[in-house]
Amino acid sequence: MIIRARYVLPMDGPPIRDGSVVVEGDSIAAVSCSRLRQGFGGQAGNVPDLDLGDAVLFPGLINAHCHLDYTSMVGLVPWRGEFRDWIFQITALKKQWTEEQFVASINRGLVELVRTGTTSVVNIECFPKLVAKLAPSLLRMWWCPELLDLTWSEESRRMVEEAAHWLESQPRGGLAPHAPYTTSAPLYRLAARVARERGWLLTTHVAEACREVPLVELGVLGPNCLLAHANHLDEAEVELLARSGASVVHCPRAHRFFGRDAAPWDLWRRHGVNVCLGTDSLASNESLDMRAEMRALWELPAREVLAMATVNAARALNCADKLGKIAVGGWADLTAVPLTGDPYESVVRSEKPVCFSMVGGKVVLQ
Ligand SMILES: [Zn+2]
Repeated sequence: MIIRARYVLPMDGPPIRDGSVVVEGDSIAAVSCSRLRQGFGGQAGNVPDLDLGDAVLFPGLINAHCHLDYTSMVGLVPWRGEFRDWIFQITALKKQWTEEQFVASINRGLVELVRTGTTSVVNIECFPKLVAKLAPSLLRMWWCPELLDLTWSEESRRMVEEAAHWLESQPRGGLAPHAPYTTSAPLYRLAARVARERGWLLTTHVAEACREVPLVELGVLGPNCLLAHANHLDEAEVELLARSGASVVHCPRAHRFFGRDAAPWDLWRRHGVNVCLGTDSLASNESLDMRAEMRALWELPAREVLAMATVNAARALNCADKLGKIAVGGWADLTAVPLTGDPYESVVRSEKPVCFSMVGGKVVLQ
């Protein structure tokens, strides 16, 4: 299949005007600035071409921090100025919800993600057993069972083993110790060790509302580590984080929901931190639209913002050669929006809806 668009944004090179992308199976077979003829590679002749016209084709967006369990909590958890109160409200709601409500909530989120151009998602999951009950979705999921124990006990060890056992049945994923204020340091260290040994992601919330225990005590840092928020780290910790190869996920609209001070962009830039973007849950956001997340970063250059939702996230997920860019050999995860001027701005600033999306060579939105 050959997909044509007025602009292709490969993200590892400059924009290609009148670009063509050849998809074979689940991967990208060629990227070109010429008008490729049908019949490329002797195979595409049987598959219809797709001309997106005045559109920008870019790598599918990667939501690097999400809690689909809470999608249906949108608008139900008001911010009353206290983080602890906000968490109590969620916990109270969770206790009232049935399994069916959680399944419906996750399904609703999966649909919204596809509709808004996301193709890969890191999802923190409180109820891994519900995953088998979900409607089929072609989204590339990193399911990450959430772990929290308050204080260490044998039960903590069993929790990690159970999560690891479940994760072995998934194509990809990670372990997600919740946060230093709910999760013991031994659980953190055990989860980090298991994730490292199995080649999984280790993702956790840190320093969201205030300073916490030093990262080094949790034993999580390394290239497979994805830290959500990280708003209140000192310079030495940020340097350590960057040197370890760990990444940070910033959630711009959740950040705004809680009325937080500006994220430490200068500090992150100075140390070359790999910053990704996420929506967080709809208990602190109004939608799962990654483009709305990008629009919220109006003060940063559009290309830099798009990189956070594509190449940077791919690097954090240890898939830099397959994901986050449009390049030969990469997975065919592609999204398009109407061209409204500058191609990067069309993706990052415009509110025109996504007009095409594909995951692993399969069209999910058109
Ligand atoms: Zn979160």
